[in-house]
Amino acid sequence: MSITAEQVAQETLAHRRRRARSIARALASEYPDATCALRFSNPLELLVATILSAQCTDERVNKVTPELFRKYPTARHYAQAPRSELERDIQSTGFFRNKAKAIQECCRVLDEKYGGQVPRDIDALVQLPGVGRKTANVVLGTAYGIASGVVVDTHVSRIVRRLGLTEAKQPDRIEQDLMELLPRSEWIDFAHRLIHHGRRVCSARKPKCDQCVLLRWCPRIGVAEPLADGKPPGGRSKAGQKSQAGRKTAAAKSGKSATRSGKRTSARKK
Ligand code: SF4
Repeated sequence: MSITAEQVAQETLAHRRRRARSIARALASEYPDATCALRFSNPLELLVATILSAQCTDERVNKVTPELFRKYPTARHYAQAPRSELERDIQSTGFFRNKAKAIQECCRVLDEKYGGQVPRDIDALVQLPGVGRKTANVVLGTAYGIASGVVVDTHVSRIVRRLGLTEAKQPDRIEQDLMELLPRSEWIDFAHRLIHHGRRVCSARKPKCDQCVLLRWCPRIGVAEPLADGKPPGGRSKAGQKSQAGRKTAAAKSGKSATRSGKRTSARKK
């Protein structure tokens, strides 16, 4: 039996943590080998590939990068290349002018300040031009195995909202909620697995809820299609909205809440 939006609206932080961990376990069992789909052989390559993957599929990026990585083996090669040539080399990934600018400015700092190496520190990474928390988390988690946060891309933000693990819309706030719900040891793989799940099952347009291993923990918030067994679509009922409002009031009085989505977090670049 699946959980309802009303039940999710009333759950405590402890309950939500338990549900999040059950979801993480189910994802681990379903996608034990899920990892980043971008191909790379060192942190610099992953950093460049991640910048290229904005508004572009990983498949398209993987077509461009083998030749790109051969041509530009170091940060200095990117920094010193004629801008128009780099733009041509990455043109098929879209938004190539912005991406070429971001890659060159970022690589110039890497070359001048870090000897061409990608720093292993989130605070240093997010200071690089064109690098926000998502890119920094991808590089630290996937290239270095450092759990600095949870990667929040379009799949992760869509699915965790449907799952009722957050009500936030801003990636930084969604990430804060997930970091509060999951142990640090889950942060890296949870995002990889959710991204796989978003591509295979919980797609933006037509989620296959009847085939989903997360259904029992998912209130299907915002999903319009009913389940095949005739159960109504997900989403918050008026009763749920009222109970949510009540929960927020109670949480405000007690200082506790299931998520921190209403709480301001430090502003960072995307
Ligand atoms: S596919 Fe349906 S049940 Fe599964 S996570 Fe997405 S919305 Fe929830």
